[in-house]
Formats: sequence, structure tokens, C-alpha cells
Amino acid sequence: MIYKVRAESPQGQRAMPIETIAVIGSGLMGRGIAYASLTGGFRTILHDVAADALDRACAQIRRDLDEAIARGKLTPADAAAALKRLEPEQELGAAACDADFVIEAVPEDIALKLRTFERLDQRCGEQVVLATNTSGLSITEIAAATRRPARVVGMHFFNPVPKMKLVEVVRALDTSADTVGITVDVARRMGKETVIVKESAGFITSRINAMIGNEAFLMLQEGVATPEDIDKALKLGLNHPMGPFELVDLVGLDTRLAVLEFLQKSLGEKYRPAPLLVQHVKAGRLGKKVGRGVYDYGERS
Ligand code: NAD
Repeated sequence: MIYKVRAESPQGQRAMPIETIAVIGSGLMGRGIAYASLTGGFRTILHDVAADALDRACAQIRRDLDEAIARGKLTPADAAAALKRLEPEQELGAAACDADFVIEAVPEDIALKLRTFERLDQRCGEQVVLATNTSGLSITEIAAATRRPARVVGMHFFNPVPKMKLVEVVRALDTSADTVGITVDVARRMGKETVIVKESAGFITSRINAMIGNEAFLMLQEGVATPEDIDKALKLGLNHPMGPFELVDLVGLDTRLAVLEFLQKSLGEKYRPAPLLVQHVKAGRLGKKVGRGVYDYGERS
């Protein structure tokens, strides 16, 4: 059972089950988070400012549920029950006031996140946990836009959310242990595994992944091996599911470069992007999305 803590009795706080999750932003991540919330049994209010984004998100959630049925992961009855718990909502106030727990997934823009958290803070019950799915913005700064910094936490999901098992639960400066505990329980109920991380650039996963990807570019630049053999070595020798070049082509070389620049600025020279990566980005070889990255895909995909 998941608990939120009622505001009205500071000494003898009363535990109440978390039943309703509001997901703010229904793009790539928000709709995946809403899917996990629905299949985890939560009533899920999905909010977006754009009506067409909300429509697309609901359609994708339906497709994901159908796929889960086809793969034997959900029964048709469970999928239908999950869909019934979905409530698209274009008004932030209406989405927030009913929520026991909020997960924000609006674009990675600090001014937008600060504004969103300020508004959520005004509209949500005062003990409601406000989680952000930010990849790299300061959760401490986002928390400071509210009157409840102890109740603000990072919840870093991975794309595609329905298939990826991990959530990094990120502790900002003032995040309380209670908030971390509630967040871990919510994630588990969504069927996810969690790790707890102190707020720091790249958390665990992006920091290590960017380092491996950068090292692969440095090796390619030095002529140590071909991209195919570097990928093969990591897959067959280290059991990585994808090679670093296959992965960076999927993620986007521009995105990887931005992550490395951010890590370099935050953590130091160790993360300086490999010159060959910078060259690829300058050449417009951004990965699969443009048909060419480290590998050539022939046409746009
Ligand atoms: P996205 O652009 O696909 O979706 C963002 C959605 O937010 C859009 O539907 C947009 O209409 C909506 N939106 C914009 N302004 C809004 C507002 N004021 N209120 C409500 N909705 C608003 O972005 P995304 O890839 O889903 O990323 C969302 C967050 O998740 C970012 O912080 C990103 O860094 C983080 N993240 C992304 C990934 C990834 O792989 N894409 C992985 C982990 C974390």
C-alpha cells in the first residue's frame, strides 16, 4: 500500500493511500509515464497545454496497451480497466487539485519548469509530492519555486517508459526521506525498479553512458578499431545490449554532445566531448533521425 501523509495533523500525521497521479506534459515521456501509472493501478490524470498532444498521447497509450495484450503482458480485461482510469485534462488546475502525487514531464526548459512548479504548488494539497522527470536541470532550483521543497523530488524515467525497468529517484538538497520513500513506493507500484541518487549532473546512468560513448569516439579517432568492431566488442564481450555507436545513432549525436558539454561544465575536463563527435555533429550526421550518424541508414527514418 502506498501512503501520502495528510496535512492537517502535524504531530499525528495520518497516512492515506495514493490513488490519483497527475502527469504534467503528455509528450514522449509523459505518455509513457501515464501508461506505467495506469497499468500500476492508479487513476491517472494526464495534462498537456496542447489538445493535439493529448490526443496523440491517448492514442499511443491505447496502442501500448494493445501491444501489451499481444505480448501476453496484460489481459484484455486489465488493459480495459487501465484505459478506464485515464483522464485527459487540459486545465492544469483541474489536474493538480485532485492529485495525490504529481509527475512533471514538460520540456527541458528551466523557466517553464519553475513556472509549472509554482502553479502546481498553489493548486495541489500541501503534502502532495511533486516529482520532476528532468534529465539535467537543478531539482533544488525547481524545489525552491515551491513552498514545499521537502516534497519535491526527481523521478528520472527512461525511454520507452513502458519497456524500461529503471527509475532514478533523485534527492535534491531539501528532499525529505519520507518523500523519497513515497516516490520509491509509487515507482515500484508502476512495476519499476529504483535507485536512489543524490542530485548530481547526469545522475548515474547518463554520466556513465556518456563516458562510454565518448571513449568509443576517442578510440575511433585513434584508429583503434572500426565502429562495427567496437560495437561488437561491447555487445559480445561485455554483454551490452547495443554497441555505443548503435546507441548514439539512436539517441542522436547532437543530444549526446549536449549531455557531454553539460557534464564537462558541471564535473570537469574528463567529460570533454571527443573532437570526432563534434565533427560528426557539425557535418549534420546526427544519427538515425536524419538517416546518417556513425552509420549510414540510406534514408531518413
Ligand atoms: P516532449 O517535447 O516529447 O513532450 C513535452 C510535452 O509537454 C509536449 O506534449 C508539450 O505540448 C507539453 N507542454 C509544453 N509546455 C507545457 C506546459 N506549460 N504545461 C503542460 N504541458 C506542456 O518532451 P519529452 O521528451 O517527453 O521530455 C519531457 C521531460 O522529460 C524533459 O524534462 C526531458 O529532459 C525529460 N526526459 C526525456 C527523456 C527522453 O528520452 N526524451 C528521458 C528522460 C527524461
